[in-house]
Amino acid sequence: MDKKEQNCKARLGRLEKKVKYLSVLHEVNKAISSELDFEKTVLITVDSIEKKMGFKGGALSLIDDSGKTMHVHAASGSKLAKLVESILTNVKPLQDYTVDLTRSHENLTIKAAKYGKVYIGERLSDFISPQPVPEKLANMIQKSMNIGSLVAIPIIIRGKVKGVLDFILEKGEAEITEDDKEIMITFARQAGIGMENALLYEQIQRQYQDLLVLRKITDVITSTLDLSKVAQEIVNSVTTRLNFVAGLISLIDADTYQLYLTAISETSGMKTARRMIGSLGKQAISIDDKKNLLAVAARDMKTQTTDKLEEILSPPVNIRIAQRIQKMNKIRGVVVLPIMAQGRALGSLAIGLDKSVSEVTDQEKETLITLANEAGLAIDNAQLFERTQRFNIELKDEVGRATKELKDANKKLTNLDKAKSEFISIASHQLRTPLSTIKGYLSMILEGDYGIISDKVGKVLTRVYNSNERLVALVNNMLNVSRIESGRIKFNPQPIQLDLLIDDVLGELAPEAKSQRVDLIFKKPSWKPKPVLADQKLLHEVILNLVDNGIKYTSHGTVMVRLKRHLNGLEVQVKDTGIGMSKEDKGRLFKKFSRGRDAYRHYTGGSGLGLYVVRKLVELNGGQIEGSSKGKGKGSLFKFTIPYA
Ligand code: ADP
Repeated sequence: MDKKEQNCKARLGRLEKKVKYLSVLHEVNKAISSELDFEKTVLITVDSIEKKMGFKGGALSLIDDSGKTMHVHAASGSKLAKLVESILTNVKPLQDYTVDLTRSHENLTIKAAKYGKVYIGERLSDFISPQPVPEKLANMIQKSMNIGSLVAIPIIIRGKVKGVLDFILEKGEAEITEDDKEIMITFARQAGIGMENALLYEQIQRQYQDLLVLRKITDVITSTLDLSKVAQEIVNSVTTRLNFVAGLISLIDADTYQLYLTAISETSGMKTARRMIGSLGKQAISIDDKKNLLAVAARDMKTQTTDKLEEILSPPVNIRIAQRIQKMNKIRGVVVLPIMAQGRALGSLAIGLDKSVSEVTDQEKETLITLANEAGLAIDNAQLFERTQRFNIELKDEVGRATKELKDANKKLTNLDKAKSEFISIASHQLRTPLSTIKGYLSMILEGDYGIISDKVGKVLTRVYNSNERLVALVNNMLNVSRIESGRIKFNPQPIQLDLLIDDVLGELAPEAKSQRVDLIFKKPSWKPKPVLADQKLLHEVILNLVDNGIKYTSHGTVMVRLKRHLNGLEVQVKDTGIGMSKEDKGRLFKKFSRGRDAYRHYTGGSGLGLYVVRKLVELNGGQIEGSSKGKGKGSLFKFTIPYA
């Protein structure tokens, strides 16, 4: 065989090897990517190194989340490897072979992990000593296995080294070529992708499980609106459902602006702790406290972490007690999350861990944040409910008090009203008799029964007589009001000839009209009016009041009375050419004590009772009344109806 031929054969051999590798790689790749279980993916990877790729053996180490340590995860399963494993596991379990990446001594596996490069060597101890396997042991293994050379290849996922694959080649095998290296690197990359997928899948599965648990917690904590129950359920779920060591909730009191320990998880260890802490509601922490992380988390609305429980509990709890509680419950780290609702902090949630805070996975962090959010919602609802209830009770009290006050006031008013009515009634009765006497004597004097009087005296006495008449009218109206309001008014209906009654009234008022220079006219109908059914006395009062008003509010004019026929009764109209009424005045005409704006100027003696009495009496007699005017200075018209007899 010449040199050329030899060369050719060697190249062919290399090519064959490459084809074999590639097809194996393809197969392994398929196996890896169809598997989503992380452990299985790792096993397939390591097994393939030996069985499919034809290497003597291999081991896989993975870097932990912290990036500071690396664990030997699996070794290939050949007899020899088993032997190695048995030697190793005689000393300690495989998983316990941990490599500290921060130490200065670096073997080639550690270098591959740290610098992401491929390292080749011949001595096993260069790859695994002094950690995790001491050099002596490594040399022993090397001797018992027929190791030729070794390769350490980093597994790189998304630019970051996640682990190292160590390949072991048998003695006598050809030297590791660049091709071999390339294939190993490709293999490591494929394995990396497979593992990454499996990890992702597991993570999602875990997330899903966590979500299910969180949903259960949410269901439980939102099923009640009792604040202390809600808080207790939350901290209990922290231990029973999420498997943390302990949970504690402190809430801000809106009045005192202090934090109060509200709930502590009810595990047996924490029960003792609780006894040591004492009554929860009394343990207040100032929200401004710089050291207590419950206060800091709530105030800054930021998650806090510590490995000292005293930073959570003291003050108010004594530091020694806090330390004992921590020891008793084997708490190694604590995470404190603010409990938020609608952008406000309601308090904080502390979670005790059985590991240091740096070991908390992203997944766990997310779960805790979600829990704190759910807690915020549930607590906010419960607090709102409590406030509403308290408000309801206050409201009830308030309404009760106000109602009582009103009742008392009403009683007083009723009594006062009664007293007033009685007073008016008595006063009017008392006034009526002397007024009639005065009237009687005055008219006798005016008529000359006591001798002739001079014109001058006559004029004065006439004015006295008119004033007396006003007083009589006023007293009558007051008596009427008092009768109407006490329901004591006498109502004795009988057929009445209205035209005759009007004649009477006008006769009575003639002197007054004359002194006011008012023409008093009754425009008699051309037809014979049918009798109406009414109380004679009361109807007399009505007409008297209306015509009297007409005279009072007209000077130098006319007051005219007319009768009109209707289907069911007669209508009496009293029309004057006097001061008239504004719209505003008209609106309150028939109300008690209500007088027009200009009425005072025109006639000071009024009481505002007349029209009120008139309306009541008309209505009592089954009629209706209305007053109208075209405006100020344009006269007024009052008309009322009375049914036929
Ligand atoms: P008083 O005349 O004592 O004030 P009334 O109850 O009789 O009380 O009348 C109420 C008000 O109605 C009067 O103050 C007056 O403003 C208005 N009023 C009544 N009758 C007339 C009328 N004929 N012309 C103009 N205003 C009137």
